[in-house]
Amino acid sequence: MAEATVTRSSNSFRVVPLGVLGGIDESNLSAYMVAPTGSDNYVCLDAGTLHAGIEKAIKEKAFEGRSEKILQQNIKGYCISHGHLDHLAGLIINSPEDSAKNIYGLPSTLETLKKHYFSWESWANFADDGEKPALKKYHYAPLQPGTEVDMANTEMQVTAYPLAHSNLTSTAFLVRSKDNYLLYLGDTGADEIEKSQNLHKLWEAVAPLVAEGKLKAIMIEVSFPSDQPDKTLFGHLTPRLLMNEMGVLAQLAGTTLKGLNVVITHMKPPYRTITKIKTQLNYANRNLQMNLIYPRQGQVLEF
Ligand SMILES: [Zn+2]
Ligand SMILES: [Zn+2]
Repeated sequence: MAEATVTRSSNSFRVVPLGVLGGIDESNLSAYMVAPTGSDNYVCLDAGTLHAGIEKAIKEKAFEGRSEKILQQNIKGYCISHGHLDHLAGLIINSPEDSAKNIYGLPSTLETLKKHYFSWESWANFADDGEKPALKKYHYAPLQPGTEVDMANTEMQVTAYPLAHSNLTSTAFLVRSKDNYLLYLGDTGADEIEKSQNLHKLWEAVAPLVAEGKLKAIMIEVSFPSDQPDKTLFGHLTPRLLMNEMGVLAQLAGTTLKGLNVVITHMKPPYRTITKIKTQLNYANRNLQMNLIYPRQGQVLEF
């Protein structure tokens, strides 16, 4: 009798989390390497922690070889969601060891890098614009909202969408590999709190992909438990606010989100708070029944 040998796995993306927390552990801050399945050409979505995360990923057998090689050869570019340190400290600190590559971001984010980080007063200017002399290792690649661009030396494209994050504009990156998509959101508040339409517009943009089963995963932040007072959210989500937003997405997609991969990023320590967030999320998810995933540093995710 012939046994069906067709593999059930139809993975499109390999994600290696280099850092997953929203504070205060500087060895584990937001950074996610993403490549199409079977490719070694990654882009790093935010870069809060690089070296410590790569070392952990090697220990976890996500990569083989030396961490310098992975930094220099496997990370082909960075997508930086906004200018907060917990999303780019690893990029700055590792820049002397890094190889030439692009930094993708909205113009406002790249401006912050230029003015406040790759300047000769805070570090050295490893980029190709800003304070002189420019060492030109990194090329600033500004993204216009809603316009897809190829990411150099990868097999992926990216489209940026603005997000409301307290006083800053943050960014969602829609990554495409052929006909498959992965959506990564930097820090964001909820539309109702931020008095914004940004998430609503983002959900409108990706709803058709959800309906067609092309959106393989959403990576989105939940920084605080649901009882955090609105005035101390500082442009972040809670389990309650996330579920509201997912409800909007489901409505726009005209489909259930049951089984949709939703990776919860940026939970803020201490660990008892993280435990509380997870409990609240798991309970609040009983209606939508999404596949909630809590990433761990160095442990591969496949979508
Ligand atoms: Zn953050
Ligand atoms: Zn932030």
